[in-house]
Amino acid sequence: VSCRICGGKIQARHEVPEAMFGTGEVFPYEECGTCGSLQIETIPDDLDALYPPGYYTHARGPARPGPPPGWRGRLERRWLRHQAGLFDPLGWLLSLRWRHPPRFVRWLKLARTSTRAHVLDIGCGAGTILEWMARLGFRRLEGIDPHLRHERDDGTIRLRRLRLEQVLEGPFDLIMLHHVLEHVPDPIATLRQARAMLAPGGRLLVRMPVMGTEAWRRYGVHWIQLDAPRHLHVMTTAGLAAAARQARLAVDATAFDGTSFGFWASEQARGGESLTSCPEPQVSDERLAAWEAEAERLNARGEGDSAAYRLVPASGRETAGRKPT
Ligand SMILES: [Zn+2]
Repeated sequence: VSCRICGGKIQARHEVPEAMFGTGEVFPYEECGTCGSLQIETIPDDLDALYPPGYYTHARGPARPGPPPGWRGRLERRWLRHQAGLFDPLGWLLSLRWRHPPRFVRWLKLARTSTRAHVLDIGCGAGTILEWMARLGFRRLEGIDPHLRHERDDGTIRLRRLRLEQVLEGPFDLIMLHHVLEHVPDPIATLRQARAMLAPGGRLLVRMPVMGTEAWRRYGVHWIQLDAPRHLHVMTTAGLAAAARQARLAVDATAFDGTSFGFWASEQARGGESLTSCPEPQVSDERLAAWEAEAERLNARGEGDSAAYRLVPASGRETAGRKPT
């Protein structure tokens, strides 16, 4: 038996309980001795059956971070644009006064893109993330999701019920996989497909849980980001680097983005409570704020339980001698 990500030898086996719906099932996972990633032992035959209609990404998310209407909203949008690394002199000025932007601008900044970019969001759910980007001025936004309930196209955002291999348009300047790669049966193949759809100078933005960090050490099989059996591979940073290499990509930048969710939901899971029965933290505001602060400290140390990665096509010797797919 070997690691499906790096080919390394399996060194440990873990029994991971289902924690979202509280089905009471337990799934065997294998831990790689080389890259440290975790993989489900047997990939379920019917993956679609794992996502019931109420699965959270398909509900329309809260419309945050919605700037208020009027001039205040317009200024806020300019400020967010600068915080996201987009060209905006007025936003820069505002940033001298306004602090603490919402989290999503951090990964947008990591993507190092522009509002002219042709963007594809793979596994877009209800399209919430594309809506945030549209508010900042992006105009060529496409989302695909095989489980999408309502297709729509308003000229700025187009959402379609498609699998990646069915997308014929392109190329794209930015392809995003927000908490998607851990759900696909062959993440290396998915990265290869995405790479083939990149425009010159294009990049991928991958966000996913990070195996082997503090949350795993603290909560083990109850760490909420394992999400058995839906997460088929939970990669370490080394695991993602290995997967990227095999897809002729290189990890160009990393930003850890764990939140208090990793704490309160894992605590809850360890206590036998499912996420569906208890979707909100049942702790004091002080406790939650302390976890939020701890998550930020861990992120700063590279120990957060999730991360955003910027991936670019590998160049030079690294790709030499490999057959393009
Ligand atoms: Zn491995």
